Amino acid sequence: MGIESTKIIRKASEKPRLLASSRYIEAQMNRRGPFQITQQMGPYCTESCGHCYGSYSPQRTGVPNSDTIRNSLEQAVETNNNLGINFFPRICLSDGEPLHEKNRESMRALAEYSSRIPLAIMTNAGFAKSLREAREWMRFLRDSGLDFSSIEDQCCETISSFHISTGRTYNVPLRNHYYFNKALKQIFPDLNFGEHLDYTILGFEDKFPTTRSSTKLVGLIHSLYGTEDPLRITSNDGQSDLCIEFPTENASIFLYYGKITPDGRAVLIPEISKKYPEKPIQPEELEFSPEESESLTIDYQGNVSFGSSQKCVRPGKIYGNVNEGNLFELVRKINHDEYYQATKLGGVRFLYHLAQEASQEFRLSARDICGVCHSIAESPELVEAIRQGLKTTGVVESYKGYLDQRGIPNIG
Ligand code: SF4
Repeated sequence: MGIESTKIIRKASEKPRLLASSRYIEAQMNRRGPFQITQQMGPYCTESCGHCYGSYSPQRTGVPNSDTIRNSLEQAVETNNNLGINFFPRICLSDGEPLHEKNRESMRALAEYSSRIPLAIMTNAGFAKSLREAREWMRFLRDSGLDFSSIEDQCCETISSFHISTGRTYNVPLRNHYYFNKALKQIFPDLNFGEHLDYTILGFEDKFPTTRSSTKLVGLIHSLYGTEDPLRITSNDGQSDLCIEFPTENASIFLYYGKITPDGRAVLIPEISKKYPEKPIQPEELEFSPEESESLTIDYQGNVSFGSSQKCVRPGKIYGNVNEGNLFELVRKINHDEYYQATKLGGVRFLYHLAQEASQEFRLSARDICGVCHSIAESPELVEAIRQGLKTTGVVESYKGYLDQRGIPNIG
């Protein structure tokens, strides 16, 4: 996608009236679509965190087969080589814990390919029960070829990195974080840690939590990486959530804060169900902020859909399987799909409108915007009815009609 188109979409997030402009519509319709891959590494997980939106745990069975992982990697690398760009710039390992024994062979394959397609390793640090175990995993990744050099093209630069999630619902002791960081420093001593490591605390609070455990974590990171420079409190990418910046000798390390979303097991937590009650949807209240890029999720069985997590792989929007189809072809299929085009143009509130056009009785109760999207995509029949309606009227014409109905003029 050109720089101009990216700018238009970014601007439309800040000035919603631009969502009705022809420039915005053209930029979205021509956007090349999904590219950042998220690979589900569960549903088996070493932890059973109270907030887990996928309700993963040691009681669940299923992890990706290492052949499935190799298929995805091979196809992603081949696409990048054929196109001469980082069409698939990186693979995010999430939705389950990547670093546990059942994922050992998958991690070997991922590390082997990391010089061609970098990894974002989302871990809970549960594997680092002792310094010995933490070192063993770091050594294994190093010896399997985990590569931290950057891959760059005209659009972006990507690198492999560790993203550690923690918080009071994680049940992973602070000492694991100490062992993990110690081992990381010992096995990869030359790393510019700020570029390859960050932390996220997840919690219920509206602001950065000043609990004893979060204060201890701040102290731990500072003692392991910090310099004489004071910590800085900054805004997290313009959002209201704060993050803490630890200046180091090189790039800073960041500790973000994220609010728990009301999904999966999280709704059993009284604070969450109270904060986000299930209520009838008022479409005009649904938020929409257009994306400049897209995630492509591959579930543990190899099923592919657009969306940022395994929860987005719903029956109505599974486009194929990496073990049977070609990843690039699946992306083309998504890009040509009217349902996807409508999603990127107008978001969930446009989908809600389309669902009501497809079925007069359509009404939903949900806790948040993801709940609406998941409910619609749960029904292949409803998604197909929406798709057929879009085929008949045309995606852009439907979108303009929807804007007209809302009294939003096309501003050229
Ligand atoms: S939140 Fe992460 S670490 Fe916790 S159970 Fe879910 S996948 Fe596992």
